[in-house]
Amino acid sequence: MKNTHWSRRTKIVATLGPATNQEEQIAALIEAGVNIFRLNFSHGSHDDHRAALQKIRVQEEKSGRCVGIMADMQGPKLRIGTFKDGPIEISEGMSFRFDLDEMPGDERRVCLPHPEILSVLDVDSQIFLDDGKVRARVTKKGADFIDVVIRSGTTLSDRKGLNVPGALIPIPALTEKDKKDLALALDMGVDWVAQSFVQTPEDVQEARDLIEGRAALMVKLEKPAALTQLEEIIALADGVMLARGDLGVEIPAEDVPAVQKRVVRKAWEMGKPVIVATQMLESMIENARPTRAEASDVATAVYDGADGVMLSAETAAGAHPIKAVEMMDKICRSTESDEIYTQIMEAKHPDLVDDSSDAITAAAYYVAQDVGASFIVTYTTSGSTTLRMARQRPEVPILCLTPDLNSARRLCMSYGVHAVHMEEEMGDFTGPARTAAKIALGVGMAEKGQTFVMTAGVPFGEKGTTNTLRIAEVV
Ligand code: PGA
Ligand code: MN
Repeated sequence: MKNTHWSRRTKIVATLGPATNQEEQIAALIEAGVNIFRLNFSHGSHDDHRAALQKIRVQEEKSGRCVGIMADMQGPKLRIGTFKDGPIEISEGMSFRFDLDEMPGDERRVCLPHPEILSVLDVDSQIFLDDGKVRARVTKKGADFIDVVIRSGTTLSDRKGLNVPGALIPIPALTEKDKKDLALALDMGVDWVAQSFVQTPEDVQEARDLIEGRAALMVKLEKPAALTQLEEIIALADGVMLARGDLGVEIPAEDVPAVQKRVVRKAWEMGKPVIVATQMLESMIENARPTRAEASDVATAVYDGADGVMLSAETAAGAHPIKAVEMMDKICRSTESDEIYTQIMEAKHPDLVDDSSDAITAAAYYVAQDVGASFIVTYTTSGSTTLRMARQRPEVPILCLTPDLNSARRLCMSYGVHAVHMEEEMGDFTGPARTAAKIALGVGMAEKGQTFVMTAGVPFGEKGTTNTLRIAEVV
């Protein structure tokens, strides 16, 4: 198959940042294969995000293909306060205090401005700071402080993050900052919102209630508590991200690979897009080439059947952002063309759930194989039929035709989908079939005389009516 943008099935999410937020770089990133841009609301001003979104939309238009935009909310990340005289040195065995006093810290204490976490800590609780680089054990607990003994680490500096592995922390899932950021993101018209540090299904419901369907909701799995109610959380989300950065601090690093397999499998089974994120090509922040281990890590996510893989600092702040995307694109393509990959996708094919749209999309999957179809067309308004088709993980592209531009952009997150927004009225079945064939010819997805399979709901344009399967020829 040709190396065109629609022929890679695994999607690429790239984070924008100082290294890439100019039009020229955005254009180059799309050209290199980015399907969705992530705007990281942990950094940057509202004006920055608005400007970035406008630039992406201009370049999307120029590229002639749909590009998704995801606003990633910072969430309730716990942070310590600041130090009076800059970073302090620490060492194993040293005692240290965290308290509620806002005075800048010194080598004996620092502020931990989160009274709520004191309630979940006990003597012997473990705490991690600075992405796990500093580890400590609680030795004493008071009404407004905890004393710890340092177990590992060398320095501690201003506003470093703090993790309490395993604990369900009584903090709201959306902070006041998140609520302001969310309002802006929705006003800007982003396609996806990512929610950080989700712990319970109720957290997801709270975000859903605020979003009111104006964007799709990507739940970031980075707290062990979320993994205990995985199914309920995926059911409420539109997609999930395995956020291995924070997750890998909260659970032992050696457990991350198995969790990745479990999460990807579950989300795939439930028909929701799943993204594997963080440190995928980490060394490319500085180097023009990745390590072999990083190439293997990207490939593993592809072999697991993930819908997408994500780049963070590699594209936001790295020295080789375009090369990082090109490399990710190459690794995905090479893996997808491996025979073992095809076997895995077929063998892990999820069971049907009892639903008529599943029956049609599953049939489309088998019919496409039997007749040697070169692509599968889904006609959809809400995007739901296309999601069910992606769940089948077909070998050929899913050409999604939709009159809803928002659906088309959201579907940039889904496995194998090439979504095309079209304004025109569909009429009867011959219209869309002819349109689909024309689009496929135009992008080189098929040649005249080849066969394709099409699912649709007749009458067209009515929600939730996928009931028809058709085999057609590209004429
Ligand atoms: P972050 O999320 O980059 O917003 O922290 C991703 C992760 O934790 O892996
Ligand atoms: Mn995170």
